[in-house]
Amino acid sequence: MSGIKRLILAASMLALAAPAFGFFVDPKDRAGENRDVIVIDPGHGGHDSGAVGPGGLEEKTVTLAIAKTLAEMIKERCGCKVLLTREDDTFVALRDRTAFANRNKADLFISIHTNAAPKKGVDGFETFFASIDATDEDARRVAELENSSDSHGGVTPAEAEDLKDIIRDLESTASNHESSILAEAIQTSLLKTAKGEDRGVKQAPFAVLISADMPAVLVEVGFITNPKGEKRLDSKKVREEIAGSIVEGIVGFRKMFSKEKDFIGYLNSGEESRN
Ligand SMILES: [Zn+2]
Repeated sequence: MSGIKRLILAASMLALAAPAFGFFVDPKDRAGENRDVIVIDPGHGGHDSGAVGPGGLEEKTVTLAIAKTLAEMIKERCGCKVLLTREDDTFVALRDRTAFANRNKADLFISIHTNAAPKKGVDGFETFFASIDATDEDARRVAELENSSDSHGGVTPAEAEDLKDIIRDLESTASNHESSILAEAIQTSLLKTAKGEDRGVKQAPFAVLISADMPAVLVEVGFITNPKGEKRLDSKKVREEIAGSIVEGIVGFRKMFSKEKDFIGYLNSGEESRN
């Protein structure tokens, strides 16, 4: 899908999501701070290396580096409060990552990963939001890989059944619409800097996304199993470019909802002047 088509789609999805949206309309008071809270989740860590490239580069290293750069960039751009689910090479279970975001009343949750494929030639980037059914076989495979990547935070078959019920509820909520818009905004922005195939916005049952109370996405920034991809992901410059694109996506998403807030404010002021 082209960037322009994506933006049109995102705008029309916004129209559907807007009535129930509370991100800017109803700011929460967090101990005197009315700042937006964004939780960045660097995938894997500790004994869970995530995917490993042919040259030995580990996913957990790339995701932490991008997440830290991203955190700094977000703070600079929007003055938001940014929290990381891990700040160093430690293991954090999948469910604890989402629980951390919920506990901190995050407004957005962004999980960073690098992709893996059995065929070394596969390249590109994709952004996911949660749903029961995967968009396609590839999306299902990525979710399975990320869900089973650690023995403590992974999802057992019994848990997966329970999760289906949770996702059914989730799919009818406003925050899932918002997740899809956030995913579109980030994927569109990544088109400018990320290399390889635009694999698009997809849906799949990711354990780390499904119990998030806020708009939540998982970005697969590139294939670490591709020798060229691994080389790119090892570069500080490329990591900064990727982080920069994700920031642009977040800023675009926030702008859409700021306009919505202004519009609701305008409607309310009309209401007051008539009374
Ligand atoms: Zn991963």
